[in-house]
Amino acid sequence: MDNPQFVWVDGKLVAWNDATIHITTLGTAGVSLVYEGIRAYWNADARKLFVLQLDEHLARFEQSIRLTRMRQTIPTAEIRAGILALVRANQCAQDTYIRPFAFVESTYYSGISNDQARLVINSMPNPLPVSGVRVVHACVSSWSRVTDNVMPPRVKASSNYLNSRYAMEEAKRNGYDIALLLNPSGKVAEAPGACLMIVRDGKIITPSVTSGILESITRETIIQLCREVLQIQVIERDVDRTELYIAQEAFLCGTGTEVTPIASVDRFTLGDGKIGALTQRIATLFQNLARGIDPRYPEWRTAV
Ligand SMILES: *Cc1c(COP(=O)(O)O)cnc(C)c1O
Repeated sequence: MDNPQFVWVDGKLVAWNDATIHITTLGTAGVSLVYEGIRAYWNADARKLFVLQLDEHLARFEQSIRLTRMRQTIPTAEIRAGILALVRANQCAQDTYIRPFAFVESTYYSGISNDQARLVINSMPNPLPVSGVRVVHACVSSWSRVTDNVMPPRVKASSNYLNSRYAMEEAKRNGYDIALLLNPSGKVAEAPGACLMIVRDGKIITPSVTSGILESITRETIIQLCREVLQIQVIERDVDRTELYIAQEAFLCGTGTEVTPIASVDRFTLGDGKIGALTQRIATLFQNLARGIDPRYPEWRTAV
C-alpha cells in the first residue's frame, strides 16, 4: 500500500518521507507518548467522509496531555483544523484511521527534561472489517490491568500498552483471540484496547469508569444509544469474573474494535457461540450512525 502523501507535524503538513525524528529520541519519546485513535467513515452514496466524534477525541487527547503534565503549545482548535487539513491533503476517499499523538522529545531519560509536547498526526486508509461478523474467543488474563495510582488507564498512553502486550501475547500463545483483564481487586476491567459489555437478562452491564478502564468514547456512545434509541437498561458497576461465564452475550467496543461479539470466555460458550441478537442490533445501529446512513445524532459526525 502506498503511504499517504502528508503527515501533520507541530502545525504543518510535512511530506511523508520528511516526517522523521532522530533515532536516539525513540526510547524516551515512546515512554512519554499519549495518543488518540480516531476513525473516519466513508459514505459511498453521499461520497462523503465523516470523522466520528472528533471533538470527543480531541477533548480526551487534551486531557491525556494534561494528566501527563506535558506542555501543549498548539491549541486544540488548531489540532482539529490540522486533522481536517491532513485528511483533505491525503485525499482520503475511503475509511480512514487518524492518529494524533503527543510526546516529549528528549535524548536522556529524565522524563521531565523537556516537557513541551511535540504533536504529530497521521492518517492511513483503514478498510473496515464488517462490524459484527467476526466473533472472538476470549480468556481472562493472568496479568492484572494497570491501576490509577500506578499507570492510570484513564490516560491513553502508549506505555499502558505494554500491559496490553503481555496480556495479548499470552492469550494468543494459548490459542485465544483476545484477553480480558481483571483489575487488582479481581473485578473485570477491559480488553487490551477495548471496553467490554455483557448482556444478562436483557440488560447491558459494563464495568464502571473507576474499574481501571480507559474512558472509551465508543462505550459512552453505546450506553447512550441503548438508553435513548433501543430502550435497553445499562448498568455500570463492578463485574465479577464468573459473570463473564454466565452472560448470554458479551461484546467488545472501541474505535478500533467497533462492536465485536465474544463467542466464548475461558472456553465457556456464550449463547450459541454466534453474535447475539442484542449485540447485532447495537453493531448495526452503530455502523449506520458512524457512516451517516442513519441521519440521527449529526453532532457525532464531522464532514471533511
Ligand atoms: C482506545 C482504547 C479503548 C477504546 O476507546 P474508544 O474511545 O472507544 O476508542 C479502550 N481501552 C483502551 C485501553 C484503549 O486504549
